[in-house]
Amino acid sequence: MTTPILELNDVSVDFDGFFALTDLSLSLSHGELRSIIGPNGAGKTTFLDVITGKVRPTKGTVSLRGSSIIGLSEQKISRLGVGRKFQTPRVFDNLSVTRNLELAASPTKEPFSLMFKKLGPNVKDEVHRLLEYVGLAPYAKSLAGSLSHGQKQWLAISMLVAQSPDIILLDEPVAGLTDEETNRTAELIKSLAGEHTVVVIEHDMEFIRDLGAPVTVLHQGKLLTEGTLDQVKADPKVIEVYLGQSD
Ligand code: ADP
Ligand code: MG
Repeated sequence: MTTPILELNDVSVDFDGFFALTDLSLSLSHGELRSIIGPNGAGKTTFLDVITGKVRPTKGTVSLRGSSIIGLSEQKISRLGVGRKFQTPRVFDNLSVTRNLELAASPTKEPFSLMFKKLGPNVKDEVHRLLEYVGLAPYAKSLAGSLSHGQKQWLAISMLVAQSPDIILLDEPVAGLTDEETNRTAELIKSLAGEHTVVVIEHDMEFIRDLGAPVTVLHQGKLLTEGTLDQVKADPKVIEVYLGQSD
C-alpha cells in the first residue's frame, strides 16, 4: 500500500477539559477529494486547525507523507505543501484581481521585493493561466473589492492554487454563494482533485452531492461514519444526529 499523503491517528484535542476532537483517525490518499460534514460544533474546523498546525493535538499523531508534523509551525506546514482557505476569503480588496494573484504566485514573500521588483515571466504566465482557469480573466484589472462573494471565493481559491500546495483545505467554500456560483465552485473543486488532495468542509448537501466524493461525518469530535453521501444519509446514527437541527 502506498503511504497516505495525510494521516491522523487517534487525535484528540482537549481545550481545558472540553474535547473538540476525540480519538480521530483519518487518512487521505494523494489526489483524493474528500467531503467532511457534521453539525455545528462537530470539530470540523478544529480538524483543519490540527492539520495546519494552528492547534496542537493533546494526543495522537499527524503525518504528512509519512513524517510527523506535530509541533511544526503553521508557516512550516504551509511550506510543506498544505494550503488552507478560510471561510471569509482573505483577499486584498484595494488591489486588482491580477495583483492579488501575482502576490500569491510570487516565489518571494519578502515585502520590499514584492512591491518593487519586476515579476518573472513564469509568475505572469501562471497568473494568466489561473485567471482563465477560475473564470476571472474578464475581471483581471478590477479591484478585488468589487467582485461578488462567489468571485472572491474563486480568487481566494486561485491564490491558494498559485502556491502549488499538495493538499488544499477548504472550510465552507460555498457559504453565502448563489446556486449558480455554488455549481461553478463544485466544478472548480472537482477539477483541482487529482493533481491536489482536496478536503472540503460544507453544510450544503446539494453541493456535497455535486462533488460526488467520499463523505466523512464528524459529530461531537468523533468520526461518526464514512461512505458515499447516500450511504451516510441512510445511516441511522447520522439521521439521529441531524434530526431537529437546521443545518
Ligand atoms: P465545527 O467547525 O464543526 O462547527 P469547531 O471545530 O469549530 O466545530 O468546534 C468544535 C468545538 O470545539 C465547539 O464546541 C467549539 O466551541 C470548541 N472550540 C473550538 N475552538 C476552541 C478553543 N480555542 N477553545 C475552546 N473551545 C473551542
Ligand atoms: Mg467550523
